Amino acid sequence: MAEQITNPVKAIRAFCMECSCGQTSEVKSCPVYKCPLYPFRFGKNPYRQRREMTEEEKQVLADRLKEARKNIGISEEKSEVDDGK
Ligand code: SF4
Repeated sequence: MAEQITNPVKAIRAFCMECSCGQTSEVKSCPVYKCPLYPFRFGKNPYRQRREMTEEEKQVLADRLKEARKNIGISEEKSEVDDGK
């Protein structure tokens, strides 16, 4: 069974890899500029801008995430594993 892809941009990447017979160099040098998937063929969204946040904003979001995880029953220990800690 194929790996389940849950990110739409990663799914586009997988589609481009199939379209190019599994050759990354073919995806890179794809000549079909008019293909709607062309900007996303590397598995990244080039239109998405990186969000700059202050330490205070980061802390507010971290607290909000912690509260949301608590509400759906994800333990603190599991969430630290998910965060890569
Ligand atoms: S951008 Fe379009 S044509 Fe090019 S590899 Fe991806 S799917 Fe194929």
